[in-house]
Amino acid sequence: SQHFQDPQAVFDQIDAQFQLNDQALIDLAKTFLAEFRLGLEAYNQDMAMIPTFVTGVPDGTEKGTFLALDLGGTNLRVCEVVLNGDKTFNLRQQKYKVSDALKTGEATALFDYLADSVDAFLTDRALSSPLSPTRDEDAPDFLPLGMTFSFPVEQTALNSGKILTWTKGFSAKNAVGNDVVKLLQDAFDRKHIHVKCVALVNDTVGALLSRAYTAGGCLTGAIFGTGTNGAYLEEVAKIKKLAKSPTAPKDGYMLINTEWGAFNNSRSHLPSTPYDMALDRLSINVRYQAFEKFISGMYLGEITRLLLISLIDATPKPLVFGGKSTPVLNNQWALDTSVMSDVEEAWADGGENNVPPFASFESGILTPHVRERLNAVREVVVKQFGFDGADVSLRDAAIVRWASLLVTRRAGLLSGVAIAAVLLQTGRANFPEPDGTHKPVKAERISVGVDGSLIEHYPNFERTLRESLRILVGPIVEQNVDIGLAKDGSGVGAALCALQATKAL
Ligand code: ADP
Repeated sequence: SQHFQDPQAVFDQIDAQFQLNDQALIDLAKTFLAEFRLGLEAYNQDMAMIPTFVTGVPDGTEKGTFLALDLGGTNLRVCEVVLNGDKTFNLRQQKYKVSDALKTGEATALFDYLADSVDAFLTDRALSSPLSPTRDEDAPDFLPLGMTFSFPVEQTALNSGKILTWTKGFSAKNAVGNDVVKLLQDAFDRKHIHVKCVALVNDTVGALLSRAYTAGGCLTGAIFGTGTNGAYLEEVAKIKKLAKSPTAPKDGYMLINTEWGAFNNSRSHLPSTPYDMALDRLSINVRYQAFEKFISGMYLGEITRLLLISLIDATPKPLVFGGKSTPVLNNQWALDTSVMSDVEEAWADGGENNVPPFASFESGILTPHVRERLNAVREVVVKQFGFDGADVSLRDAAIVRWASLLVTRRAGLLSGVAIAAVLLQTGRANFPEPDGTHKPVKAERISVGVDGSLIEHYPNFERTLRESLRILVGPIVEQNVDIGLAKDGSGVGAALCALQATKAL
């Protein structure tokens, strides 16, 4: 018996599962806001809304020299940051690799490694010319360090916070529930390293602070890298759960680390495709960081890989690569999101949708321009997937590009939902009226500090994010949103936090 397969219907069905129309985006933003408010009132599993105890935003006049340690992304970074007090800074940094064994082993081993890396950095620094030639007479006999720790932490002061959970491939044992500053300080002390960790900061907060320093102010910071998360400046009066904290201020402002990567952990807000489900099932944090798994660099390649594999495995006939596969396609996590970036770059100005339906795809009906662009995509696919040239047709190249676009476009639109939610929460914008127009708000530039390879390098990611913003908050507010890279955000942000902390010492 033969079962029916209409190839184009298969492609259309997959396509439909990734689409988010205007109403879906509006509904999501409303749910996002509701989750924000729940999280500001009490502990909320879907959106932690963590008070950071950072109560102000720099304006660029800050001065001083600080060490910064950044753990939470692909690399461990140690830096020395000199804030010049004129919106500029000097920074020297060294990256260290964190092995999977360290990520998943004992926490003490991980924190010993962090301390050793700082020690190695200081030794190197002593051997080279100083970044900051003058040293204060009354400088303390320890070096103040700000730590950027990009995992969910329940912060109780600028220099203490309990690890709530690991994300992004980390799972070190005996860390969750402990104070991360103490874990690091104990490692320094065990090794007699004269460094004092004075401040703990999340990378989103770092991005916000560093953008504020170089731009003279900032409302929100957002990361679109290995993971995704956002922070913004909230009124203390609205952070209802702070009322219970004896150490918290009673008024003014405080930065909130939203931990929006956990949106949709309940699975009730966002439609998941079978690829999302498979990715989640095989991840080390099943049912956690649901929103992040739709959006960030660690996951987009994997979703695309699973989609392509389903086409290779289609019956009765394969729908791509003549049914052939390669290790990059066969192995979990082997397709890096940067490959999709390369595909999109090769496609360049090939246009959004001007490839004929794959079912009737004949290279003869392609315009010379589209043929040329598809050939460039084909070269990327051959090289990065590890195919023999003869195994990849122009049609296959068009399918890979389509798959990459589906997955990243959804990510970009959802990223816009998160940013829009902050604008709506802080009164910078209004939802559309029933007729689609937006009630006006005070016209002002809104500074958004961003960091991460996805927003920095993925072609059109910001454009798609803005498309979503226009739908949600209208074109006038969207145009007033100034999205700027928080260069070296985690280093500079940690330094700015360490400055706030040493002032209080
Ligand atoms: P982190 O968030 O870990 O500090 P990055 O911002 O560099 O670091 O993000 C790394 C993630 O971005 C990885 O998951 C990687 O797959 C992805 N990535 C790296 N280069 C690119 C690129 N050119 N385009 C899109 N994603 C990329």
